[in-house]
Amino acid sequence: MATAAVLDPEAEHSMDAILVGSSEPSSPPSPRLRRGLIAYEVKVKQRDIEDVCICCGSFQVHTQHPLFEGGMCTPCKDKFLECLFLYDEDGYQSHCSICCAGETLLICENPDCTRCYCFQCFDSLVGPGTSGKVQAMSNWVCFLCLPFPRSGLLQRRKKWRGWLKAFCDREAESPLEMYKTVPVWKREPVRVLSLFGDIKKELRSLGFLEYGSEPGKLKHLDDVTDVVRRDVEEWGPFDLAYGSTPPRGHACDHPPAWYLYQFHRILQYARPRPGSPQPFFWMFVDNLVLTEDDRVVATRFLETDPVTIQDAHGSTIQDAVHVWSNIPAVKSRHSALDSQEELSLLAQDRQRAKPRTQGPAMLVKNCFLPLREYFKYFSTELTSSL
Ligand SMILES: [Zn+2]
Ligand SMILES: [Zn+2]
Ligand SMILES: [Zn+2]
Repeated sequence: MATAAVLDPEAEHSMDAILVGSSEPSSPPSPRLRRGLIAYEVKVKQRDIEDVCICCGSFQVHTQHPLFEGGMCTPCKDKFLECLFLYDEDGYQSHCSICCAGETLLICENPDCTRCYCFQCFDSLVGPGTSGKVQAMSNWVCFLCLPFPRSGLLQRRKKWRGWLKAFCDREAESPLEMYKTVPVWKREPVRVLSLFGDIKKELRSLGFLEYGSEPGKLKHLDDVTDVVRRDVEEWGPFDLAYGSTPPRGHACDHPPAWYLYQFHRILQYARPRPGSPQPFFWMFVDNLVLTEDDRVVATRFLETDPVTIQDAHGSTIQDAVHVWSNIPAVKSRHSALDSQEELSLLAQDRQRAKPRTQGPAMLVKNCFLPLREYFKYFSTELTSSL
């Protein structure tokens, strides 16, 4: 999209004049002040809200906000992409769904919603003082869950899930397409194929697998040597394929790269047909046993770069894994760069050390949280006390 065309230097200048007067035209207004002026610009000056960044009040609009009517500037777009699927330990999103600030947040009380909103968005877009009123309410439901689409200046986009997918596919640098998120009433329990490493415990603790019922939702296989396409198709369909190399120090029947090749082979059988809109996720975890050459092969086969997820206590890395995945936010949550030397030292240590008590799957557990936007999850309050 043409970004230069929407810039309006005169408008920027006129706003400076309102805020700081002509004596200091070069100092930019504070973001707080600028946001406070959004309502004035739209209501009094009749500026189209699509020409204002609703996240920060800038007039340098780069694109449209995917969830609500309004514009978005380049820095806010970058922040939005980065924060979109970030979750806290409590299972709620870590940032405001409108502006991506991580300040004081109000949580949507719809049990199927994980979204949060910041005070400033309430006060600048819905109306001054709204944050206080909402805070006093016992059961507040958010702008994406409310039956009516408008609250003050905030107008939910029709078909916002489609907008969101288009936004991510267009703006994100990832070569992987994003799957459209699924409305609550259409979400089904996730069907998992777990190869070599088992993630049943982790998915259960996140509420994706219900205790007791329907044990068939997760199929775990340790050996896949004789598995052919027909088998996988019979067991399937699947929504998530997980695979890992054995933890270091474990006796294994095959060289480490074997696990990668087998995972890649079975993944082809488990995938929906190309072009299918069915969300399908996969993750391959290397417990630091693949060689550097193997990792290059993995990146080529899986068509995405790995990230390193580590368990650090202070400055020492206790444990780490390399992860390839198409699950949203795995990339933005973890850095690709890390000290290779430190990791190889760790890997050598592992070889000598006793096997860990905690499985490596624990490290990647929170990477599964974004799947809450796609699949049904069960209450975890009960399960955590078990
Ligand atoms: Zn902005
Ligand atoms: Zn906000
Ligand atoms: Zn909500």
